[in-house]
Formats: sequence, structure tokens, C-alpha cells
Amino acid sequence: MNAQLIDGKAVAARVRAEVKAEVDRLKLEQGLTPGLAVVRVGEDPASKVYVNGKKKAAEEVGFRSWELHPDEGITQEALLEVIHQLNADPAVHGILVQLPLPRHIDPDVIISAVKPEKDVDGFHPLNAGNLLLGRSTTRACTPYGVMRLLEEIGCDPAGKRAVVVGRSNIVGKPMALMLLQKNATVTICHSKSDLRREVEGADILVVAVGAAELVKGAWIKPGAVVIDVGMNRKPDGKLVGDVEFAAAAERASFITPVPGGVGPMTIAMLMRNTLDAAVRYGLVPVVR
Ligand code: NAP
Repeated sequence: MNAQLIDGKAVAARVRAEVKAEVDRLKLEQGLTPGLAVVRVGEDPASKVYVNGKKKAAEEVGFRSWELHPDEGITQEALLEVIHQLNADPAVHGILVQLPLPRHIDPDVIISAVKPEKDVDGFHPLNAGNLLLGRSTTRACTPYGVMRLLEEIGCDPAGKRAVVVGRSNIVGKPMALMLLQKNATVTICHSKSDLRREVEGADILVVAVGAAELVKGAWIKPGAVVIDVGMNRKPDGKLVGDVEFAAAAERASFITPVPGGVGPMTIAMLMRNTLDAAVRYGLVPVVR
């Protein structure tokens, strides 16, 4: 293997330590403890694992945290009421609604109901729109974590060809916008793209599809930085990314492993976003 591994676990631990140091100072100097409320509807097993990880990280950095856990049958109106109560609670600086929601609830309606200043996922249309406009805003945690990984390895996107595979609202699109903001020349690929042709030109490749080893190692431009967001469970139980790891690592200069690459960064950046929300809106009363 020629590529250097990007150790997302280690970088995420550093981000959490930075957040904890700032939280300690905020408590001491301002008497303010950031608060994160996580809403988990029903019994989706993967959501339970993700929410536990978020609660654990919140405790580690010194936040107050709450898990609200309405049952699967909650109506959209009742869930909206839960969100309105959290919006109104001054101890809550960040609200996260764990997706997916049950089919009878429209996630767009729920996400739009979260106060934009408490939307620590960066999914609210106002925050997504501010990112598009290049304004300072709360950023979606996964692509924000990828930007931090690039920074850690000293990769400046300016002038480079960045290819983002996947155009979801939570990863692909905000990823492309963050790279564009850092002056990369960005291409977004999706299911109708000539994937091999685009990937072969990438200096920075970010793949977020959810298809095991879709991107072949032989397509990687020698020296490229490869960031694999995908997480796929193979029939033998092994967790793999969207990139054929071993072959890609022969050609790339840097590559993220799966697991232990992007995954831990998502939760770490959620902690960062919650702290920033508390500092921005928790210290002074918001005038309306
Ligand atoms: P998503 O909403 O399902 O979007 C997948 C995207 O991939 C779509 O834009 C789709 O294109 C595109 N796509 C599908 N087949 C393709 C192909 N053959 N060639 C090129 N593009 C193709 O997925 P997501 O929510 O962004 O998640 C993507 C992956 O990242 C999943 O494995 C997920 O588990 C993982 N993930 C990881 C983290 C983390 O913290 N590590 C966080 C979020 C997501 P169309 O738009 O044309 O359909």
C-alpha cells in the first residue's frame, strides 16, 4: 500500500478534545453549558446505535444532553409539538432529529420546523441555502468532517479537481459546495454519470453512494486524495466503503479506511456545531 491512511478516529478525538476545552471555559467564564436534544422516533436499530454514539460524545465533551424517544406511532402534529417545545427551551442549543422517520411523517416538514439556529445537523433549508450562498452557517456534519480531514493532511482544495460521487442533500451536495468554497473545481456525479471517466480526473475524490466497492482502485488518479463516506455491510458481515480499498490505496496519496475514516468525524462535528450554536445564540437573549 502506497497511500497514507487518514485516521478519522484520531482526528475526531482531537475535535472532541477541542470542544471539551471550550466547553470547560464557557462553563467557568460564562456559566453556560451547551445543551443537545436528540429526537429518536421508534425502534430503528441503526438509529439507536447512532443516537447512543451521539449521547456518549455529548457527555464526554461536557454538554447537557437529552434523548426524546416518542414511539413509532406518534403523529406528525405531535412530533411538531415536541420540536416546538425544544425550540422554546433556552437550555437546548442544538436539536437533532435522527433520520429516518416513520413513513407517515414527512422529514422535510420536521426538519423545517427546527429553529435554524438550533439546527445542528445543518439540514434546515435556511442553513443549506446559506451554504449555497457562501455565507457562514451551520454546516452538515459529514461533509464538514471531511473538510477537517483534508485540512489535517494539509490538502488545500484550491485549484484542484474535486469529484464528489453522490448528490444527497446530507452529504454529496453540501460536500460539493464546501469544496467549491475552498476554490476546488468541482464535479458532482450521480447514477447517470460516466463514473469512471470523472473519477479518473479527480485530484480529490469523495464518494458517498452506499454501494460496496463501486469505485474501482484502477480508476484512481495516481496521487489522488480519496475520501470514502460509504458504509456497507457485506453478506459475510464485513463493513466496507464505496471504494475498492486495497487497490485504491496502491494509487492514492491519502485514503480513509472504512470503518475509522469519515464515520467518527460526523459525530465530532455535531459536537462542534452544538458548541458553536450555544456560543452564537446562548450567551445573549435572541431578540425577535
Ligand atoms: P443517498 O441519499 O442514498 O444518495 C446516494 C447517491 O449516490 C445518490 O445521489 C445517487 O444518485 C448516487 N448513486 C447511486 N448509484 C450510483 C452509481 N452507480 N454511480 C454514481 N452515483 C450513484 O445516500 P447518502 O445518505 O448520501 O449516503 C451515502 C453513503 O454514505 C451511505 O453508504 C451512507 O451509509 C454513508 N453515510 C455515512 C456517513 C458517515 O457518517 N460516515 C454519514 C452519512 C452517510 P441519484 O441521485 O442519481 O440517485
